[in-house]
Amino acid sequence: MPKIKQLSSHEAQKIAAGEVVERPVNIVKELVENSIDAGATRISIYVEDGGKQLIRVVDNGYGMDAIDAQKCFDRHATSKITSVDELETINTFGFRGEALASIASVSKITLLTKEEQSLEGVCITIEPSLLVRINSAACATGTDITIADLFFNVPARKKFLKSTQTEWRAIQLLFNAFCFDYPHIHFTLFSEDKQIYNCPNSIDIKNRALQLFEPVTHRHLLETSVNGDISLHVVISDHQHYRYDRSGIYLFVNKRWVKNQHLSSALIKGYANVIPNGRYPVGIIHITVPTHEVDINIHPRKEEVKFLHPRRVEQTLQQAVKKALEDNLSQHLKKDVTIKSEEKMYTESMRDFRPFNFDLALHPSSLLFNSESSHAQDERKELNQAQLNSHTPPTLPALSSDPLLFAEVLMQNEMEHGFEVKSISTANVSKDINTNISFHQDMQDDLRTINIDAQNNYRLIGQYNNTYLLVEKEDGLFLVDQHAAHERILYELFSRRFHEVATIQLLFPQIITLSSHDIGIIVQHLDILIQHGIFVEQCASDQLIVQSLPVHLKNESISDIVKEAISWIIECQPLDAETFKKAINHKLQAQMACKAAVKAGDILTQEKMEQLLSDLKKTANRFSCPHGRPTGWLLSLTEIEKKFRRRL
Ligand code: ADP
Ligand code: MG
Repeated sequence: MPKIKQLSSHEAQKIAAGEVVERPVNIVKELVENSIDAGATRISIYVEDGGKQLIRVVDNGYGMDAIDAQKCFDRHATSKITSVDELETINTFGFRGEALASIASVSKITLLTKEEQSLEGVCITIEPSLLVRINSAACATGTDITIADLFFNVPARKKFLKSTQTEWRAIQLLFNAFCFDYPHIHFTLFSEDKQIYNCPNSIDIKNRALQLFEPVTHRHLLETSVNGDISLHVVISDHQHYRYDRSGIYLFVNKRWVKNQHLSSALIKGYANVIPNGRYPVGIIHITVPTHEVDINIHPRKEEVKFLHPRRVEQTLQQAVKKALEDNLSQHLKKDVTIKSEEKMYTESMRDFRPFNFDLALHPSSLLFNSESSHAQDERKELNQAQLNSHTPPTLPALSSDPLLFAEVLMQNEMEHGFEVKSISTANVSKDINTNISFHQDMQDDLRTINIDAQNNYRLIGQYNNTYLLVEKEDGLFLVDQHAAHERILYELFSRRFHEVATIQLLFPQIITLSSHDIGIIVQHLDILIQHGIFVEQCASDQLIVQSLPVHLKNESISDIVKEAISWIIECQPLDAETFKKAINHKLQAQMACKAAVKAGDILTQEKMEQLLSDLKKTANRFSCPHGRPTGWLLSLTEIEKKFRRRL
């Protein structure tokens, strides 16, 4: 019996719609591109429920007459090309005539449009591929199109729509990209009738960034251009500013926003040794290449790009970023920084990139890898310190043999004596970074972690390079990384004390300013931070206020942890509720431990070192820090003896 049936064109259209319209952000993209193609200079976007309930785009473009307003929903109806030959020279976004037809097959649409020369406009209401109503209407020149109830007739697709928050985030990123790509257009974005962004036209990309990102970003932006076969316009963050995710990176090729892993890697490589690993810069990169050297239309949604010579483009970008950072640094530091063999470095072949050769230890305090200036940190530390006003000379906080009691003892001592647990000087932080770099190289060698065994006797020799504890053991020389070891101790303390972590009320609360996008995410998860002893609430549309902190963190800026938490929440969103909670808890505890732990470069007393070793011995997983770095390694006696040829 024959089984094959021809699908009705209506059903086929619903299936095909998936190619163009998978989620709300695709619709926003198609509609805004139509507005740009129509020469609009003002575009407003309205979104409800992350676009699932409603998307409305209003433009002041050239509009449509009554005939086109009906035709535009037909499949392959386009005003942009008449034959495929024109594709070579096309300079509009659209050309397939597919978008409105696809959208119309899976949603309810209202279109209001008017051409300049017409006295009145037309209003059309349609439901999946059938015209419901057409009226003349009084309206301004341009197009106002509303898409409601997406996928109401395709439950299978509706079910797979992501959360409102995820969809809204995708729309915000797209909005940013349009703003950066079309600076001459005044864009506004509304969510649930609230204006979230208002970006009047501004051809200055740095100014655009000010409209879109948190104000601090603007102070850290550098701008540079490269002219040639491959031309670049680059606006990037300097060495003092970074993000915890890639949400600040926007790449445009021949004016199309593209997603290209290799290009963003090239951008990040340009920052080698400048910002810490796992952190990302802000980068608004416009690349122009000859049209015959690039294929942007390989994807139906036009997000991918293929170059004829990808390596050349990547290297040009990497080089430009590196040079912009170096130029900025030399300007900043003048004599304070040694950029070794500067001239040679620039004239070398592009393929032969060498690591950034400046000595971090020489940086003045302004070069901390921290979004809060060290001056602000010091000021805040001082203010909070004033809260604990006592003239008793500082007594060392013993790293208590019972880590569970440590927090209380510490807090009490601090209340009584007003001492600092530790002070982080600029040099320390810089050194920490240096040490980490060389440590990773050392790890290539044959290193072995070992247990500091309770039965084995050991003798503390001292501290090497203010970073490693040297311990004499029967079977060799044991080196302990003081930061990694203390991180492990505190991590286990935090995990055990999870719900009852000792906190301290801040006399001068910390204010954290975030982008509206980030605020939207974190406010829904403040309970997680509170559970960990970080008492934080929203105090303005773009600000959080931190009232109290775990006692170990009382002198730390918490803004980094909050920003990291936002990136973890985004990253872990696809996980089920329980795994999500576990993952976030682990990351938070690890990060809090990292912040509160003694740093590489901190000078430790004999007593403190002894305590650190004995606390480490008691931890359940003493071999590595919560981030997976080893806490110690053994240079065995056999190895030492072989080196000195006492043994073969
Ligand atoms: P394409 O953009 O590929 O041509 P669409 O389905 O997106 O296909 O749009 C079909 C046609 O509708 C366009 O070619 C254009 O003539 C018209 N159109 C759509 N949106 C607008 C708008 N905002 N302003 C003016 N005309 C529009
Ligand atoms: Mg289109």
